[in-house]
Amino acid sequence: MKEILYLTNERREKNLPAQAVEELRARLRGRLLCEDDSGYDDLRQVWNGMIDRKPALIVQCIGAHDVIESIRFARTHDIATAVKGGGHNVAGMAVCAKGLMIDLSPMRSVHVDAQQKTVRVGGGCLLGDVDCETQRNGLAVSAGIVSHTGVAGLTLGGGFGWISRKHGLSIDNLLSVDLVTAEGQLLTASPEAHPELFWAIRGGGGNFGIVVSFEFKCAEIGTEVYSGLIVKKFEDARQYIQFHRDYVRTLPDEMTVWMVVRHAPPLPFLPAEVHGKMIVVVPFVWLGNEAEGRDLIRPIQEATPSHAEAIGMNPWAAWQSGFDGLVGHGARNYWKSHHITGLSDECIDQTIAFGETMPSAECEIFIPHMEGAPSRVPIEETAFSHRKTPFVLNIHTRWQDAADDDRCIAWARDFHAATQAFAQGVYVNFLSEEGDERVKEAYTESVWDRLVKVKRQYDPDNFFRMNQNIKP
Ligand SMILES: Cc1cc2nc3c(=O)[nH]c(=O)nc-3n(C[C@H](O)[C@H](O)[C@H](O)COP(=O)(O)OP(=O)(O)OC[C@H]3O[C@@H](n4cnc5c(N)ncnc54)[C@H](O)[C@@H]3O)c2cc1C
Repeated sequence: MKEILYLTNERREKNLPAQAVEELRARLRGRLLCEDDSGYDDLRQVWNGMIDRKPALIVQCIGAHDVIESIRFARTHDIATAVKGGGHNVAGMAVCAKGLMIDLSPMRSVHVDAQQKTVRVGGGCLLGDVDCETQRNGLAVSAGIVSHTGVAGLTLGGGFGWISRKHGLSIDNLLSVDLVTAEGQLLTASPEAHPELFWAIRGGGGNFGIVVSFEFKCAEIGTEVYSGLIVKKFEDARQYIQFHRDYVRTLPDEMTVWMVVRHAPPLPFLPAEVHGKMIVVVPFVWLGNEAEGRDLIRPIQEATPSHAEAIGMNPWAAWQSGFDGLVGHGARNYWKSHHITGLSDECIDQTIAFGETMPSAECEIFIPHMEGAPSRVPIEETAFSHRKTPFVLNIHTRWQDAADDDRCIAWARDFHAATQAFAQGVYVNFLSEEGDERVKEAYTESVWDRLVKVKRQYDPDNFFRMNQNIKP
């Protein structure tokens, strides 16, 4: 085997002696892959097809031992290092060019404690893994809405989805983590053990260590939820959104109603003549009895005419993976996002104007309603700072052809700039690569200062820097 060229943390090129690589291979339980190995190209792929980076080495970790060995090896040779959970991060933080990729994807064990209603989840699990196991007992963890998203990245940034208005963010249900520090030490962080570290990882991302397992409290939601999609006409968008902005804020926490402005995909319940047209989709989940849910949904049905709807009792796991196909791996993606203080008439005007110039049929303007249990958690309890804003405006720009990159990215940036006046902070997990100053906007000033302190204590050399970085 020949020497391997790699990049140090300071971006200098160096060579790794072949013997060092072989010694690492011998110490691991999992596989070590270099560029020529079969499977290398599949493993370096992440969700966003715009990211095309070739790591010098990929370690497929089977357990904490492999994570510790990888970190020690990277430190000894000063190799730039990235950590892959589910690989969904839109900025492609899970993979680094000519560095070491610590891939947790083999660590997908899920252990449910049905008595305690808790679950322990491996650091490489996808959301679908957790739903699959917890649903056997009618339980669920409050998390995101696409089953191929990684639990790790989602949770470390905050984590919200269909049941978070009732049950809190993913971090609000996190009981403890087992984590390997930048020194290669395995420790448990919880309210009792390393409490500052436990505070920081709940919103501060992967800046403080590699989580090998998460322990969550589960919610009892049963195996079916009253849920569905109502598809509104784009020509009535102003009237509908004006109704929506007020109505959803009156609803009990058990009801979550969101909004998506996009081109109609060819869904079977939509008439063929609507396919490809601009629409306003209103998806909802109700955690309660069907008759009550129906009453709460009726005003939405009556607010403006609908193209079609698909509503009923849906198996939770099927609902959680129902949107997977619209956001599969490999397309080109660029996101811009902010929390917004409300859907003022001016903000609605911009949403409609940019809806009219949407640059591809796969783009979405995604506006989740966030209030409820998350906004009642005191700000200082976790590092997730923006709990009080009612809505998020997430501009999902998605397309297939590299020739469209400039046009699509420009649309997202212009739309984002045009709605900046209504913004208050950003969700760290919805950031693209937007620079150091922008990362700070995910946090209040006092939270940021506290995060920097924790970073200095647990990662003073900034070993974990392929992330929305908090510099020590
Ligand atoms: C299609 C899609 C749908 C989404 N839906 C939601 C949603 O409903 N709700 C929501 O809150 N967010 C959602 N997100 C955003 C999502 O939370 C982020 O993309 C998140 O980064 C995904 O985590 P991951 O593990 O898949 O990512 P990765 O790209 O693997 O990692 C993201 C970051 O976390 C670090 N990291 C990964 N694993 C670990 C670990 N075990 N220990 C320490 N650091 C680690 C990585 O180094 C990287 O910096 C969605 C994203 C996509 C693409």
